[in-house]
Amino acid sequence: MKQLTFILIIAIFLGCKQNSKSEFIALGSDKISIRERKELNQNILNYVKYNSDVLALTNVTVFDGKGNPAKENQTLIVENGHFQAIGQSSKIDIPKGATTINLKGKTIIPGIVGVHNHLHIPRFPFVGETASKLYLASGVTTIQTCGSASPEQGVELSKKIEQGKFIGPNIITSGPYFTGKGGNPNMIIPRDEKHIKDTIQYWTKKGVRWFKVYRHTTPSDLEIIIQEAHKRNAKVTGHLCSITFEQATNFGIDGIEHGLNSTSDFRKNKTFGICDGSREYIDELNIDSEKVKRLQQLMIDNNVFLTSTLAIYESSVPNRAFADERTLEVMSSFLKSQYSERRNNFDSQKSSDNLRERRLKRIMEFEYQFFKMGGTLTAGVDAGRHVLPGFGDQRNFELLKEAGFTNEEAIKIMTSNGAKVLSNSEVGVIENGKKADFVVINGDIKKNIRNVELVFKDGYGYDPKLILKDMNGKFGE
Ligand SMILES: [Zn+2]
Repeated sequence: MKQLTFILIIAIFLGCKQNSKSEFIALGSDKISIRERKELNQNILNYVKYNSDVLALTNVTVFDGKGNPAKENQTLIVENGHFQAIGQSSKIDIPKGATTINLKGKTIIPGIVGVHNHLHIPRFPFVGETASKLYLASGVTTIQTCGSASPEQGVELSKKIEQGKFIGPNIITSGPYFTGKGGNPNMIIPRDEKHIKDTIQYWTKKGVRWFKVYRHTTPSDLEIIIQEAHKRNAKVTGHLCSITFEQATNFGIDGIEHGLNSTSDFRKNKTFGICDGSREYIDELNIDSEKVKRLQQLMIDNNVFLTSTLAIYESSVPNRAFADERTLEVMSSFLKSQYSERRNNFDSQKSSDNLRERRLKRIMEFEYQFFKMGGTLTAGVDAGRHVLPGFGDQRNFELLKEAGFTNEEAIKIMTSNGAKVLSNSEVGVIENGKKADFVVINGDIKKNIRNVELVFKDGYGYDPKLILKDMNGKFGE
């Protein structure tokens, strides 16, 4: 009893202090926890369609994000942004006072967790504010920025969203990129060991939890970066070239980006530690050969995840590089003109060579095999060209299915697997007690993931149409 009184006093104190909607919810018979929704600024509430403490979503098809078969005719009770009950509609009691939304003919998936989701695009070091809107409107509720061109602004935006002052996904910010001599001058090219350590210390103090190494990083720098990041509770992922997947895995890297396209393990004429050699290996390699399987098994044994970025690769495949209607609407006139230029080039070449198409297929095969062997495959948009934040994440879903994954598997890759590598067990799944960040798709997701009708995050149901309404021509201005 004493303990209960103490918890109540603390709870009331917290409730008053934060001045937010809080409620005591009995979880089971003996546990009491506080559930509250954060307060949102009025300008954000303008995009919110559902704003009530208790929601009942009825008659809906649910993909749980864990890869289990979808279940039809489900009812979900959400209280203050958390799932309180999930089950067959006939068996779930709807609490008094709940706002009921009949979702017959619709589908629910967990909010997408994108782990290669920048707040910049080539030539534009920060497009965070428009990108955030696009992510959320497309059903992406958590992102890891996976290398930042302007980390300071990323950290700021992440805080603003967290405080309910700006609209967007939860943002796990990463620090500036590390690379090596000959690499991109906008990135950190370490002068010495101290430079690396100081950089990591500086950014982790600011709340950064991820560092990305880029193509020219030297092996000795990578070892120091990994050691220092791990010491400071941060993780390291890489877009590799100078260093092979095998070496990076043996150094203790946490994740590797882009899959087969950046695997230098099989390059011909490659020098150790230098980004050189040729890409023809992609065409010649047997994906189900022992050497590829051995490499993938090494990654799996060392818990190294692999991030799939199929949409951005597809954008360089001539017979596939088409921007859809909604993308053209949102792109700035500058990005649109760049797109037409690229399109014209592709069209004028009229080459019968479908090299890049074949390579896309190999990249898919590599990822499919890694997943089937038990590897943690995640996904991210890596926005660029005409592949936009959010829209490109949805395109990834379609491409993962083209790669052979089932709907359930593709959703798992894009939700709970992302949450797993971010060590966030609260999101990425539709499960009792977890955070109710989820997406309502109008219709059958097997046919179309793009018809996003509602996006729930932090207990608020956003209307994507309202978010996208004033975005015409705004992205990449
Ligand atoms: Zn990237």
